[in-house]
Amino acid sequence: MELRQKLEILADAAKYDASCASSGTEKRDSQGGGLGSTEGMGICHAYAPDGRCISLLKVLLTNACIYDCAYCINRATSNVPRARFTVRELVDLTLDFYRRNYIEGLFLSSGIIRSPDYTMERLVDVARILREEHGFRGYIHLKTIPDASPELLAEAGRHADRLSINVELPQEGALKALAPEKDLGEIRRAMGRMRLRIEEAKEARRAERRAPAPRFAPAGQSTQMIIGADASDDRAVLGTTANLYGSYGLKRVYFSAYSPIPDASRLLPPQPPPLVREHRLYQADWLLRFYGFSLDEIMAGGEGGMLDLGIDPKLAWALRHRGDFPVDVNRAPRERLLRVPGLGAKTVDRLLAARRHHAIRSDDLARLRLPLAKLLPFLVTADHRPRVTDRLDLRALVAPRTGFGRPRGQPMQLALL
Ligand code: SF4
Repeated sequence: MELRQKLEILADAAKYDASCASSGTEKRDSQGGGLGSTEGMGICHAYAPDGRCISLLKVLLTNACIYDCAYCINRATSNVPRARFTVRELVDLTLDFYRRNYIEGLFLSSGIIRSPDYTMERLVDVARILREEHGFRGYIHLKTIPDASPELLAEAGRHADRLSINVELPQEGALKALAPEKDLGEIRRAMGRMRLRIEEAKEARRAERRAPAPRFAPAGQSTQMIIGADASDDRAVLGTTANLYGSYGLKRVYFSAYSPIPDASRLLPPQPPPLVREHRLYQADWLLRFYGFSLDEIMAGGEGGMLDLGIDPKLAWALRHRGDFPVDVNRAPRERLLRVPGLGAKTVDRLLAARRHHAIRSDDLARLRLPLAKLLPFLVTADHRPRVTDRLDLRALVAPRTGFGRPRGQPMQLALL
């Protein structure tokens, strides 16, 4: 099979993995030798129309797999064309794409060939050859196989910026039913080992300022959960997410809406979940991590353990807690401002800095290009005090009626607010 054909098959097979963002690693460049950079100008992130990042060469070593996970297009019983790169082919392809500035790095995953160790050895070989033989200093994200030996996982971490192990499904029962060869206990043990090594490497780097300390996945570890392949509700998804962040120090938990696959098992739903569900889960994830919300606060009021798909979870919370509003932008502490719909954490910090010099007015908010329609019913400024916080139709007034934004041609009447 020609290389181009292999690439078509193996890049297409990799698109179902959402956990490819290249954030959070150390800064490196090729000054003093080597090739590539993790921070170069002209190397851009690009996103496919479905929102998935494609700025890395995102590819599988092979889409042939001895496992038979029901939700996966690459499962053993799937009737799809198979392909497999050799280690050398993949190394050459990465270098070629990098030199042409198509990519800023490599995201490499694989179906299980023969055994977890056999597969992991080849994934590690790709990363090792890139780093040691070619001085490649670009970003490498290796998807790791939990059942592979700890020594192989340790070597993977020496070469990769980020490692990830997919937890796959929010609940153990669903994993047993849909991916019987996978073992949640083993997945979690592998995550625990990686956490330990990542923290040891960080600690060593802090302690040994002079001698370079051993490197281990400086961009940390992440995981992915498939949403909508099983009956788990949003509360279960977010509960597992919070537990994963707390227990394994993950950088990110990615959500990937289940895409129906040909000849799918009857255990799987015929329809994908609405894509907006993925979006709402990401918003809730941020509220948990950066905005001081608890899981119960986010989920209270949601029907059947699900988030409201019509509005973002912070706005949903604010509409249920109108007594806590309006909040005065010139006086309120940071934690209260973080709860105002339409104010992000960075904006809050900018407002806190600005109000040391002058009283914040509505014009200042407009200059920051904030969503005033959403914001002003909940916020007091030097020249604005909302009159609508108690209105029964407040949700209709502030919430978009279609999609993620206000319908075109219907400007918000700010005077009303
Ligand atoms: S092990 Fe990975 S590639 Fe193989 S069937 Fe399961 S999810 Fe798919």
